[in-house]
Amino acid sequence: MTLVIALDGPSGSGKSSTSRAVAARLGLDYLDTGAMYRAVTWAVLEAGADPHDPAAVARVAATISIEPGTDPLKPAISVDGVDVSEPIRSDAVNAAVSPVATVADVRTRMVGLQRSIIAASEGIVVEGRDIASTVAPDAQVKVYLVADPAARAARRAAEEGHADAEATKASLLARDRIDSSRETSPLVRADGAVEVDSTFLTLDEVVDRVVAMVP
Ligand code: C5P
Repeated sequence: MTLVIALDGPSGSGKSSTSRAVAARLGLDYLDTGAMYRAVTWAVLEAGADPHDPAAVARVAATISIEPGTDPLKPAISVDGVDVSEPIRSDAVNAAVSPVATVADVRTRMVGLQRSIIAASEGIVVEGRDIASTVAPDAQVKVYLVADPAARAARRAAEEGHADAEATKASLLARDRIDSSRETSPLVRADGAVEVDSTFLTLDEVVDRVVAMVP
């Protein structure tokens, strides 16, 4: 059976760095599902559609092709053949992605695509919010990664090259609120997921813990 490692948690908990490092260490594929919702959001903004209008968002999502890469050493994602790896990290996308990700049609499409990528893989680390609960409930390893909000904001600010950790913290907490309270697949710790708090751990220590869970 394909080895699936599901890594869920809020923004800035260290999911991306951990998932990529675990995949690289074990020679597995890597899927960043957050990047997929970001790519849809980028397309919505490019089309001039309102990210708060679910019908408009669903229309854009129905017409585009999202093509995520699965190499942990070269994370990349394209929309209709255009590499959007950089623009999906913009402030505009940060601000619009959570409302876009609440649209049921968008989630159905993305979850379908995620499942087909997982099925085609021989072993994969999948990071997101609803991987253990919805996308891959049969994953052999389920991790729920958390960290103190100040630590998460400091990491995100450093990643995004921002000096303003307070603004980053506000944007991250706003996304957490929407992600945790939405109706479809909210951010929750799934049954059977092991909680790891990365606040006082180095990346290597977190990776060691996840790798130790692999059966
Ligand atoms: O992980 P990242 O911060 O890039 O995710 C961006 C946004 O995409 C999240 O705030 C959330 O709204 C959405 N998301 C989601 N389900 C996932 C992954 C991300 O709703 N599996």
